[in-house]
Amino acid sequence: MIELRNVQKEYNVGNTAFPALKKINFTMATGEFIAVMGRSGSGKSTFLNIVGCLTTPTAGEYFMAGENIGTMTDDALSLIRSQKIGFIFQQFNLIPNLNLYDNISLPFLYTTHAGHDLHRKTLDVIKRVGLAKKIFNRPHELSGGEMQRAAIARALVNCPELILADEPTGNLDSHNGDLILEIIEDIHDRGGSIILVTHDEKVAARAEKIVALEDGQFL
Ligand code: ADP
Ligand code: MG
Repeated sequence: MIELRNVQKEYNVGNTAFPALKKINFTMATGEFIAVMGRSGSGKSTFLNIVGCLTTPTAGEYFMAGENIGTMTDDALSLIRSQKIGFIFQQFNLIPNLNLYDNISLPFLYTTHAGHDLHRKTLDVIKRVGLAKKIFNRPHELSGGEMQRAAIARALVNCPELILADEPTGNLDSHNGDLILEIIEDIHDRGGSIILVTHDEKVAARAEKIVALEDGQFL
């Protein structure tokens, strides 16, 4: 499903180029649940942003479902991001002045399907993450755990093939973190492909496979 070959990423800081990823190789089959571990600054978010087509590599190749991502136009990339990938971030990234329902149905702004179906899909994912009673609440009226469940619902609403989660339990206590991990495991049980970035060994242990990044390289 995913293959990275000799992917590098350098950030320009002043006059120097900082290598955040150094010639990494990575493959993932459809339906896998992989945890990426590593200390802060090891390149985890950079890696996830490349896989999610949010950042382009400085060098190397990236194939998704056999297609070379590096040759695609910006429009083609935004279509992939909105239809094939669901993102979950540590800081939730909900829109403050939209209620839960509108936040979750936001990805549909990029689709052209009929409205009724989208309404049902939105309600389905809201129920699935246990937030049916909070549909009209705005993000500031939700707890941290509820905000993250809302963010997961938003990531799932388009039925993406790939879920990318960057420290999704990082801002939560262990009880709420467990609820999030249960939802992620449920996505996997239903056939979803998941990459979960974390610096927490207990969180990583929930995945089928663990890979570790150190100084921009897989160990
Ligand atoms: P992690 O998610 O593992 O903490 P990151 O991928 O965020 O690591 O960062 C990897 C390295 O790249 C860090 O040293 C970080 O400071 C640097 N870095 C990340 N983003 C940028 C940026 N936009 N500009 C310059 N340096 C960056
Ligand atoms: Mg990070």
